[in-house]
Amino acid sequence: MDESVNKTLNFIEDIIEEDIRNGKHGGRVHTRFPPEPNGYLHIGHAKSICLNFGLALKYKGKTNLRFDDTNPVTEETEYVESIKQDIQWLGFSWEDREFYASDYFEQLFQFAVQLIKKGKAYVDDLSAEEIAKYKKSPTEAGLESPFRNRNIEENLDLFFKMRDGKFQEGEKVLRAKIDMGSPNMHMRDPILYRILYKPHHRTGTEWCIYPMYDFAHGQSDSIEGITHSICTLEFENHRPLYNWCIENLGIFPSQQIEFARLNLSYTVMSKRKLLQLVRENYVEGWDDPRMPTLCGLRRRGYTPEAIRHFTNLVGIARRDNVIDLALLEFAVREDLNKRATRVMAIFDPLKVILTNYENQIEQLEIENNPEDPEAGKRLVPFGKVLYIEQEDFMENPVDKYFRLTKDGMVRLKGAYIVKCEEIIKDNNGKVIELHCSYIQNSKSGQDQSGLKPKATIHWVEESNAINAELRLYDRLFTVPDPDDQELDFKAFINKDSLVKIKAAKVEPFLKSTKPGNFYQFIRKAYFATDLDSTSENLIFNRTVNLKDSWQKTQDK
Ligand code: ATP
Ligand code: MG
Repeated sequence: MDESVNKTLNFIEDIIEEDIRNGKHGGRVHTRFPPEPNGYLHIGHAKSICLNFGLALKYKGKTNLRFDDTNPVTEETEYVESIKQDIQWLGFSWEDREFYASDYFEQLFQFAVQLIKKGKAYVDDLSAEEIAKYKKSPTEAGLESPFRNRNIEENLDLFFKMRDGKFQEGEKVLRAKIDMGSPNMHMRDPILYRILYKPHHRTGTEWCIYPMYDFAHGQSDSIEGITHSICTLEFENHRPLYNWCIENLGIFPSQQIEFARLNLSYTVMSKRKLLQLVRENYVEGWDDPRMPTLCGLRRRGYTPEAIRHFTNLVGIARRDNVIDLALLEFAVREDLNKRATRVMAIFDPLKVILTNYENQIEQLEIENNPEDPEAGKRLVPFGKVLYIEQEDFMENPVDKYFRLTKDGMVRLKGAYIVKCEEIIKDNNGKVIELHCSYIQNSKSGQDQSGLKPKATIHWVEESNAINAELRLYDRLFTVPDPDDQELDFKAFINKDSLVKIKAAKVEPFLKSTKPGNFYQFIRKAYFATDLDSTSENLIFNRTVNLKDSWQKTQDK
């Protein structure tokens, strides 16, 4: 799965290749991934990570990790740590370039002073509401603040006093002096600094003024010599301000380029909404396997390879669109199909006794993965008492039912052909046991029976079977567009998105499984070992079904 070959260039690569041809910045390519540490990363961020780090790898450049930590109200160190872990897990390295916008607070303050000295910024006493009112709407020119024409000395004096904590929150702000008549609202004297008496996760109480996103982000790009600053489309209207700051400060000319953010069907991606799901206990935490967070997907069994493959399949768009969740599931399935060891697990056990089989255990060699010749074989114990799936037997078979029936035959995967002789029921008439005979010369690989049963079913030998809990995860929402409904998105949570099977029987090979290992439970689905799984208490999460069965179940 080489992610870079045989594709035409996307529009960002076009821009970069042209820049290289023109010798811009000496042909250097330097990108950054700029998360705000106010939540966990999700699959949308993975798109941005793969893009930024991928471009640097392709063009032998560099990518910085920069935490955009300018809002002390919502940011926390817990998030910083999880973000770093997730990027590494995806397979990318920022090497020694771990930066924080907060490291630049002094430099950013000096930039602001520079603008004031050029007459390009002023301290405004209007309240937030008044500022918004004066800005008016895109169709009518805004009004200038009565404080707009303060002289440079007064502005400098007030700005230093802001920094020294001489004013209350909301009493004053620093604004750029651009154009209150601009059709672009972001150019109507945007706020550059505000007063906030909130300790910051890195700078503590050193600062009581904090730069706004637009003043921190672009300037941080310049400070780091970022050549291509890639962001999502909602920042397109911010680009003139981004460039205005660069021009008026005379700093390194980073170039902002926008692309369409990744949207996925059956998924919400806004951090605010994900936080609600966690806080209001709709899910069991940020890493609940139903969450689109990278820690959730990881716990579910999605691999970094699959996620990288998916972001590559999605491509880079200039217009907003919604990607079908089925495409992500397809990418996961494709990857796991190649790499997952095939094992047998019985979800709903039905006991089978082979009446003519000796009371002994035979070790059968079974292939680990028919898709991978390197995967080898493993020994699977076979014996007189087995479990099969309840659904693989029918007393009164429906039309075209080829699995086990009274007097019928099936092949047990990797083992023998068996024939059902007798059905044992409990007092309620429920089938609880089958008595079967096995065909002696029908062993897989050396079958001389000449019999051709139509079905092969999986099984687990009883005395060696291990109990396991299976968590069957499904889509978290019942509608493709939970964000665009009249009702709140939480009204569309899929109540069946988690079904727990407490007493499944799995083969002993799984005894030593470790969290993160992945398997195909044959004829069932792909599963991954849960974080909380131990050898005494095995827990597996359903990662994805073998086939795209969602549409079918929805049509029922
Ligand atoms: P918010 O603005 O609500 O804090 P955010 O998703 O923009 O959320 P950031 O931490 O600012 O969060 O995002 C870091 C980077 O990831 C940004 O460059 C952002 O553009 C990018 N990004 C975020 N969501 C997506 C998405 N769905 N698709 C592609 N890129 C995304
Ligand atoms: Mg953001």
